[in-house]
Amino acid sequence: MTTNAATFAIKSPAVSVHNLESLASEVRSEYFPDANGIPVVWGKNSGRKRRRSIRLGSYHRGTELIRIHPLLNSTSVPVYFIQSIIYHEFLHHVLGPAHDRRFHRHERRFRYHRESKEWLAHNLPMLLGLRTKPKHVDRRRLRTKVSPPPVQLSLF
Ligand SMILES: [Zn+2]
Repeated sequence: MTTNAATFAIKSPAVSVHNLESLASEVRSEYFPDANGIPVVWGKNSGRKRRRSIRLGSYHRGTELIRIHPLLNSTSVPVYFIQSIIYHEFLHHVLGPAHDRRFHRHERRFRYHRESKEWLAHNLPMLLGLRTKPKHVDRRRLRTKVSPPPVQLSLF
């Protein structure tokens, strides 16, 4: 990361890009045919552009509601990634809150589990609003290296 880099953050559009309901019903019918349907909704956007951590999805046991972070409602985010979050939260609905071995074993059954992990590894800086796009490569600036802020990932 260089000091002259422009900050780049993805924005949630006013109109929904991804149809959460249909993504959720695909996940449900493929992986949880016997589970009852629970609502999957976009969470509220805090309006923050840069953040230290991001909670991409959540499942609330009391209300049985799955919330997906509105930043994911973007053309920059592939459908399989959003479905991996829905899948993860649905697992909580079915298996309970613990991220134990059984949970992880089930998690790996999602068809795009590996792709989703890779996508996140590459795009977390973008989701945190930290991705930088250096416009000009300036040799003098390249020498002053600034270490990136510690990134803390609180998933789900
Ligand atoms: Zn979880």
